[in-house]
Amino acid sequence: MILEHERHLVVEYGKKVSQNGLTEGTSGNLSMVNRAEGLFAISPSGMDYFDIQPQDVVVLKLDDASIVDGGRKPSSEWALHQAVYQAKPLASGVIHTHSTYCTTLACMQQAMVAVHYIIAACGASRVECAPYATFGTKELSENVVNSMGGANAVLLANHGIVVCGKGLGEAYALLKNMEYVAEIQWRTTCAGGAKVIDDTEMANILERFKTYGQPKKTAGR
Ligand SMILES: [Zn+2]
Repeated sequence: MILEHERHLVVEYGKKVSQNGLTEGTSGNLSMVNRAEGLFAISPSGMDYFDIQPQDVVVLKLDDASIVDGGRKPSSEWALHQAVYQAKPLASGVIHTHSTYCTTLACMQQAMVAVHYIIAACGASRVECAPYATFGTKELSENVVNSMGGANAVLLANHGIVVCGKGLGEAYALLKNMEYVAEIQWRTTCAGGAKVIDDTEMANILERFKTYGQPKKTAGR
């Protein structure tokens, strides 16, 4: 089976996304790229995450999105995944979900701001909300890439969130952090509004995040 490793990871992380309440039902989709092969593996359209087998994960070419392998129809958001890989050379995993709090802010067409320092996990102090476009369209994928900027996350107006990372593990961890920040932003909004961390301190935090979690470095929390 081609891209066997990537297809197994798509199955594994799809279950995690579903099991941990980060999307509703069959909504959302995830993929992993193999740049050496010029291919990406994406979850099939409309299947329960616990029914998906590695052979159901569809393999597409990165350049023209033609189907190379897999008996299923690919996720309707394949163009969005392709666009993120083309715009972000370091990304190798992409997850799109309708997680509750990110989607709450997206339905307010509101950007995520530095209500909590952990927003820096996305590589920026702000997560923009991409303008609305119909799901599964090229217009949506263009809006997503244009609004992402230097961040590895972006909200989709009246729809959900997209995150990317160096692998699905990193993308998944980022998704969890973004859902947390979105929940805190929503809760503080309800309680009268958060005091947002200023730009100078966020620049400091972003610098610390460059070395966060790595051995023999002192920077961290
Ligand atoms: Zn969606």
